[in-house]
Amino acid sequence: MSEPVANVEATAAPAPKPKRPKPKSMIMIGEQTAALFENARLAKERGEKVGWSASIFPQEIAETLGLNVLYPENHAAGIAARHQADPFLQECEGALGYSNDLCAYAKLNLAYAAVLNGESEVELPDGGKMVKPDFLLLTNNICNQLTKWYENLARQLDIPVFFIDTCYNPFDYVTETRVRYVRAQIDQLIKDLCEFTGKTWDDERFKKIMEISQRNSYLWERANGLLDHKPAPIGGFELFNYMSAMVCNRGKESTTAIMEQLNAEMEESIKNGTSTFPVEQEYRVSWDGIACWPFLSHNLRTLKKYGINMVASSYGKAWAINYEDLDGMARAYCFASTNGDNLTTMLSRRLEALRQFDCDGTIYHVNRSCKVMDCQMMEVQRQLSELAGVPFTSFDGDQADYRNYSEAQFETRIQGLVEVMKQNKEAKNNG
Ligand code: SF4
Repeated sequence: MSEPVANVEATAAPAPKPKRPKPKSMIMIGEQTAALFENARLAKERGEKVGWSASIFPQEIAETLGLNVLYPENHAAGIAARHQADPFLQECEGALGYSNDLCAYAKLNLAYAAVLNGESEVELPDGGKMVKPDFLLLTNNICNQLTKWYENLARQLDIPVFFIDTCYNPFDYVTETRVRYVRAQIDQLIKDLCEFTGKTWDDERFKKIMEISQRNSYLWERANGLLDHKPAPIGGFELFNYMSAMVCNRGKESTTAIMEQLNAEMEESIKNGTSTFPVEQEYRVSWDGIACWPFLSHNLRTLKKYGINMVASSYGKAWAINYEDLDGMARAYCFASTNGDNLTTMLSRRLEALRQFDCDGTIYHVNRSCKVMDCQMMEVQRQLSELAGVPFTSFDGDQADYRNYSEAQFETRIQGLVEVMKQNKEAKNNG
């Protein structure tokens, strides 16, 4: 449905709505992100080795060694959200010869790397702040497309990959043999990384970083948990803005400061009974899958029209990783994301969230990039809806390739979901 067109002759144009001032926590996030890129640039200038890392790699290792590391997934998400993806997608599928079926983060990043490597002339919208890496850090706990993506990067740039294989987890827990398998790789990786970068491992520093990371995970989970209040103190999509702190800076004290500020701002809203969500919150839903970055504002506008606030998401919480030593690190990173979650784990985590946040429905983002996630999602939808008695809808999209989304489809799917949620509400109110 389109917005009504204003009759400019009959009515004066309404004054533009004053913009809500940025909360302090958001200003802090902006500063932290700028510092991450600037520090990597300066390190490179000093001749130090800079890495690129998968987003759920045990970041505390790099932090303990004092390495500067950047995150291609996070960077690609930013490019997609700013609608700057097209030249990279075209270059990747065209001159570089990759398949359209690849993960769109990979497509963006491989094309970006080609520019840094002097093999492509696509204009970099950020002037190349993602400096050329000297090594790669990789785990396959998210999905195996990352493995192939990083292997290609390594070949293209002629640099090493430091890899931890967590493999697919068929159980609801992590077996001890699996912990030993991953732990042995962590020990070897630390040795190899020290040798390659000339850095030294310090157990005391690791302990400190681990404590910071624990605190940050706790504060992040806490902020997510505060959305169980009614009304929720913020619009759930706003939490996506803070993910870079957890993805790129989990082991840093600057993240602790941001998370404390965010929690304080949310608590203040709860105390005052206010919310940054701009309309009355009629419905509460959970969101499954990665955010659809190129169309986040369209998603939000559509949901807002019906008073739907997204109060629970399985996505952001993947970065709340808790452990207390290197064995714990092995266990936690095996169980952190899609390849670590079998169907029963996915179901129980989602069922718990639907109940905690008292959700009226679920929206599934069938993300063309994330094939593994999508396959599991079909069965999760069916079983979870039965278990929780909560309706769902799904829509086709992509976290970074804008070509895989239809505004009309999203709108009609949400309309359908609202009809069912409305009926359920009325039935509940009528006893
Ligand atoms: S989980 Fe999805 S977005 Fe992430 S690397 Fe895999 S395919 Fe790409």
